[in-house]
Formats: sequence, C-alpha cells, structure tokens
Amino acid sequence: MDRLLRYLVLSDIHANLEALDTVLDAAGAVDHVLALGDFIGYGADPNAVIARIRALPAVTVIRGNHDKVGVGLESSEGFNYLARHAIAWTASALSTESRDWVAALPQGPLGVSAEVEICHGAPFDEDVYVFDDLDAMRALRASSHPLCLFGHTHVPTAFRLETSLRVIGPPRGERFTIKLDGPGKYLVNCGAVGQPRDGDPRAAFGLLDTDAHVLEIRRVAYNVAAAQAKIIAAGLPEVLGQRLAAGR
Ligand code: ZN
Repeated sequence: MDRLLRYLVLSDIHANLEALDTVLDAAGAVDHVLALGDFIGYGADPNAVIARIRALPAVTVIRGNHDKVGVGLESSEGFNYLARHAIAWTASALSTESRDWVAALPQGPLGVSAEVEICHGAPFDEDVYVFDDLDAMRALRASSHPLCLFGHTHVPTAFRLETSLRVIGPPRGERFTIKLDGPGKYLVNCGAVGQPRDGDPRAAFGLLDTDAHVLEIRRVAYNVAAAQAKIIAAGLPEVLGQRLAAGR
C-alpha cells in the first residue's frame, strides 16, 4: 500500500457549508481527508455538508456528540438550551439518507496509520473536552499513536509529551506550523471548521504532511454573512449566527 503523504484534517463542521467549501478549496489537493465528527448541529446545512463529505474520494470519519444526539443515539439532556434547540431542528431537517449515514459513523479513537489516530473528544472518551494540561496528560497517556488528533472544544491547541508535558503555541493566526520531529507523543486540535471559539471567526483546519513531519494549522475567512442568513431563514436562534462572526 502506498504511504499517504498529505492529510486534510477537519473537525466540528456543524452544518456550515460556506465554511466547509472554503476550507476544501483552500486546502487544495490532498491524499486523504480525516473528519473528526460533529458534522451536524448549530448550522443550517446538515444534508449538504454530509453530501460534501460523502463525495470526497478518500475520507476517514468518526462521530461527534452532536452526530449522536442528532440521530437519536443519545439524548440531548447534557446539551445547553441553544445546542438542544439546534439539534431538534437538525433531527427534523435530516434526510433519511443523511440520518442513516450519521447513525453509522464509527466511534473514535480510530487509528488511521501507524503514526496517526483520531478522536472527537479524547482517546479514552469521545465526549470528554481536552482543554488544560491535566486533560492533555490523561489523553496522551491513553493515546496509542505518536500523533493524536482531536476536536470537540473548537479551540486550536497542541501538546507534546516527552519526559514532561509541553504546551505548543497557542496555535493562532493564519498559519501555525508544528514540526513533528521530536521523540514523544503529540496531541493536537486543529480547531473547528464551522464554529470556531478562540475569538478568530475564520474557519480552522489542519494540513498534515507525514513525509515532512509537519502539521500546519490554517485559518481561512469564509462568507459568514451567507451562513448567518441561512441560520435566520431556517428559524434557528439568531445567536447561532452572531457567534460565527465573533468566533465564540
Ligand atoms: Zn462540536
């Protein structure tokens, strides 16, 4: 089997078609796409986003918490008011085909090569949020690959564990490059495509070159106004559109 060289890393697209299309365009040619869950919820285009992902020639997917709740695999009990409202709308908007696809999404963590594994929240629990050093330490100990990519927090973050834990970054700005050249393990969140929460409204994604051992976290501006207009037109809470402009 040929060794894959260039991966596009997507997470937390959240039914934001404008952001997804802009990211796919900005990423250019890649060998394989890794999509770390939360395809749906919050945004107004769940079916179109799913269709885009399914049309990709080479893609590995796992499920996120919104995917589970959106197809009834889990209740929305743990969701706040906004998330609950949005996921109820999403559940009613999903086509049968989309629903079947989401319901069949595999659970992380998932090894994609000898070097890389993906998960939505953490390698030991798909629903856990990794924010601080303590979370990261636990996640790195549970990870079984040199590089573990995760999502769920919507905040780009990077850690390296050698003899001790090191925080890399913070990964901010248009391009943030992480050299994966040292011993030890890496744990990286490339941010959210469809609903960034680090104060930067630009869509976030990762480009991983396993040959050069470089992971680049990129940001790209997309048509936020168009995504907002669809949220309003769908009757979703207006604040879900406002937060896209704020990156919160
Ligand atoms: Zn999410």
